[in-house]
Amino acid sequence: MRAATMPTQPELKPWINEIRAYVPGKSKTDDGRELIKLSANENPLGCSNAALAALKEHGDPELYPDPNSRALARALGNLHEIDPAQIVCGTGSGELLHCAVQAFAGPGDEVLFSKYSFSLYPLIARKVGAAPVFVEDDDFTASVDHILASVTDKTKVVLLDNPNNPGGTAIGRDEVRRLHAGLPSNVLLVLDHAYGEYVEDAMDDGGFELASSAQNVLVTRTFSKAYGLAGLRIGWATGAPNLIDALNRLRGAFNVSAQGQNAAIAAVQDQEFVALSRGVNAAGRKRLAQAIAALGNHGLRAIPSQANFILVLFEGDVTATSALEALDDAGYAVRHMPGQGLPNALRITIGKPEDMENVISTLQTLCGEPA
Ligand SMILES: *Cc1c(COP(=O)(O)O)cnc(C)c1O
Repeated sequence: MRAATMPTQPELKPWINEIRAYVPGKSKTDDGRELIKLSANENPLGCSNAALAALKEHGDPELYPDPNSRALARALGNLHEIDPAQIVCGTGSGELLHCAVQAFAGPGDEVLFSKYSFSLYPLIARKVGAAPVFVEDDDFTASVDHILASVTDKTKVVLLDNPNNPGGTAIGRDEVRRLHAGLPSNVLLVLDHAYGEYVEDAMDDGGFELASSAQNVLVTRTFSKAYGLAGLRIGWATGAPNLIDALNRLRGAFNVSAQGQNAAIAAVQDQEFVALSRGVNAAGRKRLAQAIAALGNHGLRAIPSQANFILVLFEGDVTATSALEALDDAGYAVRHMPGQGLPNALRITIGKPEDMENVISTLQTLCGEPA
């Protein structure tokens, strides 16, 4: 006979019980109306035509893909002047972030990141049984001093999204060097470059260089943002051989589909599309930032962004919730993150120029200014 204390159903591990599932950006109103999606930092220009053509090419779907995405690693290595052996591809950079944390942190360990950073980070830390540590930042910019001061014997991984999501801010080369120099060498530093392609050259954080020389630095990149291939789920990482070896042990065996590998190779070879995306984004970002600055007397404030979105704070009478509703009525979905402790902010993806104008005039009207 079963003891009375026996559980009657499978028991969730307590650290898994702590996980709140990732909340994706909305694309519909609550009553099902389609919205123009400025809530997930996708590329408003779509993707490279060459990538689209590669995707439509008749493949052999009955065959497994190259498990090591070698041709894609070669194409990336060529572009960024990295030894392809130091590159591993993943099912989005999300898979590789998971693997990196899983390889080096577990129950009893700590995973550090800035208070306002990628909402997947705490979920990843909890998934492996480690404690997520939310470090104080400096008005949405990562604080190297605070991160270093938060390191303990239990710290195993520091995750730095640079540029940061949701702030869009980035720290430069000197600050990244100082962070790395101040970390114990047994702590893994992950530089998450999801928005790396959008960063102005002068703001390059030197991540690739560091990843090629240090034993404890991993850089992750993605095809989901500037390359416009979020639906294909492809990312990659580079770092020292010991780190690449760890990721290769943990990642899915056939983690990138054959179609995805083909499309990504074509996308890498079409840097014109990336340059076009960067240009359209820079113009739209500047336009939106200036329009928000002009609404400063109504308490709106744009955090300076290096990425393809702007975090707008509502620090006056006009609330983020009212702006969310007005934009919803105008047909736009943007990102409200009360669950991340940001009830007074909206993250707005830079869309097509005409959509930016509609968003701006909606906010102007809401503030009682002539649109
Ligand atoms: C969007 C984003 C990613 C990309 O995730 P994928 O799994 O590659 O789609 C990674 N990090 C940050 C900070 C992001 O905003």
